[in-house]
Amino acid sequence: MSKKLEEDQSNEMSKTLLPGSTIGILGGGQLGRMISLAGTAMGYRFVTLDPTPQSPSSDVAQQIVAEYDDVNAARKLAHASDVITYEFENVDAGVAEILVKESYVPQGSELLYTTQHRVREKRAIEAAGVPVAPYRVIEGIDSLRQAIEDLGYPSVLKTATGGYDGKGQFVIRSEDQLEGAYNELAASGRELVLEKFIAFQCEISIIVARSPNGEVKSFPISENIHINNILHLSVVPARITAQVQNEARRLAEAVATNMGVVGLLAVELFVTEDGTLYVNELAPRPHNSGHYTMEACMTSQFEQLIRAVCNLPLGDTTLVSPVVMVNVLGQHLESVVQRVGVQDEVAMELGVIPKLHLYGKTESKTNRKMGHINLLCKDVQDGLEWVEQTKIWRH
Ligand code: AMP
Repeated sequence: MSKKLEEDQSNEMSKTLLPGSTIGILGGGQLGRMISLAGTAMGYRFVTLDPTPQSPSSDVAQQIVAEYDDVNAARKLAHASDVITYEFENVDAGVAEILVKESYVPQGSELLYTTQHRVREKRAIEAAGVPVAPYRVIEGIDSLRQAIEDLGYPSVLKTATGGYDGKGQFVIRSEDQLEGAYNELAASGRELVLEKFIAFQCEISIIVARSPNGEVKSFPISENIHINNILHLSVVPARITAQVQNEARRLAEAVATNMGVVGLLAVELFVTEDGTLYVNELAPRPHNSGHYTMEACMTSQFEQLIRAVCNLPLGDTTLVSPVVMVNVLGQHLESVVQRVGVQDEVAMELGVIPKLHLYGKTESKTNRKMGHINLLCKDVQDGLEWVEQTKIWRH
């Protein structure tokens, strides 16, 4: 951890915000909504900044309707809040500066600066002694040719900034794809990075919470299954050995501690057949793969974020039930809503308890995240069977 970071943190260490305080959130999407729901139950008040009128959090929080890079609106948010957090990492640098200067942002802006950029992020992970997939920074087509020579096929070309849900990346499988991949991604004007393709057995994630005084608690590991690069299922407990789980936890906590994280850090990892782990990506906020915690853990990731930024003791993260979380996208919404009004025979037969969360979005679109269901079960196989038998997710 840098000296400046340590000093910044020790200056703020004593600031504890008790219920009754107002928490400002940059972003009023589903994460802002679920943070506000958890915190409202604890007696906090919320104000969010989001450009979309009636954003998902507006059912539970006051909303400042403005663009994310509107510095006057950021100032308004700063003055209305006792403490500020965010639901996404791509916070405009000017806005971050104002918030840090004019309000209280215990998470700081360095964590955002690092996680906004894949190369900076990889260097921070490596600095903690934690492995990432071999990579090269790409500075032009010749440097890409050289990098491919070093890393081999297949490799994944990614934009260093701005990518999500698989956007801004290209798997290069053979030489004839190299130029096309470069031209497609370089057109964005963004910096590029090439990563070796990891033939993983599964993808997992672990959410680590850290408070300003250095207390660290992580949640149980989630096994994540994606369809078209969008998270489809989280399965907890993850179906990997206890040894791999312990090692993943050790690595994730090392990254969070070394980066001096305050709040949450979601750490996504690849697990290979022989149990080797590579960190793929970090997110300094609640994460879709942590939604299962809402009913399946003693403390949810949203409550834990509030505890961390308000400097309360962190909550117990014990898993109270095996769980499968399934995302509800626009194309699934109608079938899911139809099922709510009738007895769920499939769930009763399997002994599964489905808990539905919808985000109150006014417009439903294909592949847009509209909600999720936490399937509490005795064994994750039963939760997976429910997803299969309801047939909602087959198209
Ligand atoms: P990302 O945006 O980096 O999380 O990538 C989205 C998805 O692409 C990941 O969840 C993986 O399934 C896949 N992916 C990304 N990078 C790699 C890699 N180096 N090797 C194999 N698969 C990858």
